[in-house]
Amino acid sequence: MTHDVPAGRLAGKVAVVTGAGSGIGAASARRLSRDGAGVVVADIDGAAAARVAAGLPGPAVAVTADVSTEEGVEAYVRAAVDRFGRIDLHHLNAGVLGTMAPLPDVEPADFDHVIAVNLRGPFLGLRAAFRRYREQEGGGAVVVTASISSLRGADDQLPYQTSKHGVLGLVRGAAMYGGPRGVRVNAVAPGLIPTAIFPAGRAATVAARGGTTPMRRTGSADEVAGVVAFLLGDDASYVTGEVVSADGGAFIVNTVVGSGGAGAWTPPPV
Ligand code: NAD
Repeated sequence: MTHDVPAGRLAGKVAVVTGAGSGIGAASARRLSRDGAGVVVADIDGAAAARVAAGLPGPAVAVTADVSTEEGVEAYVRAAVDRFGRIDLHHLNAGVLGTMAPLPDVEPADFDHVIAVNLRGPFLGLRAAFRRYREQEGGGAVVVTASISSLRGADDQLPYQTSKHGVLGLVRGAAMYGGPRGVRVNAVAPGLIPTAIFPAGRAATVAARGGTTPMRRTGSADEVAGVVAFLLGDDASYVTGEVVSADGGAFIVNTVVGSGGAGAWTPPPV
């Protein structure tokens, strides 16, 4: 689902979006560009970043950057400052799903990789954002992509949900630090959005799971991007430290009573 939004809400702003070569990040880059922002499209997949940047309606620059490294974060900050002279908005979004192995079989290297991208990445990104805002002597706004896995448990995504729970600690700490400095920091928590993050061949399962939410469907990357644009914009000027779900109501399901969701409807066959 896409939204018809008048251009110009973010005119004159400069936004960095990480993981913007695909999925939610690409949708966010498109939405922020349509809203008038200059956009830095950062991704470890430089070719994907370049494709997205080339398709944006406004000024954009693509940069190849691994968000889990200091060099990668420096690269996207430098690209932004070289091209636009400043950064106002950050969408720290790059993430990986990682191993779905059950707990006894999770390899430490697989755990470390997911934590590096999904938690160290936003830590380094927030640190760089606050350094930049200090240097610019100007506030800004940051959104980090969390997940319904920041809020709920599952037994087949241990590294992922650990990293996403950690993201909320970062967001709340950064919001506390940012409050008196005029910087807002929030999280968006998507539910089930069909993107390349899911292994090929899982499309039917993803669609069926989406059918079990109160809204009975998966969401689109554009529907998450709309929440990101809201949180980064002035309409959210008194909102900080929040976690906003975009999950078709999945989080509110009460699994212990039928009327609350569990067994209240039958998911379509996979
Ligand atoms: P996606 O795979 O389509 O996009 C992720 C992008 O991040 C890719 O372009 C990838 O190249 C990039 N990336 C991966 N590692 C990177 C690194 N080290 N440095 C820079 N870029 C890197 O997936 P998506 O669904 O759009 O995921 C975006 C974010 O949304 C992730 O943080 C994910 O955890 C979160 N999320 C997704 C869903 C969903 O259902 N799709 C649900 C909740 C949260």
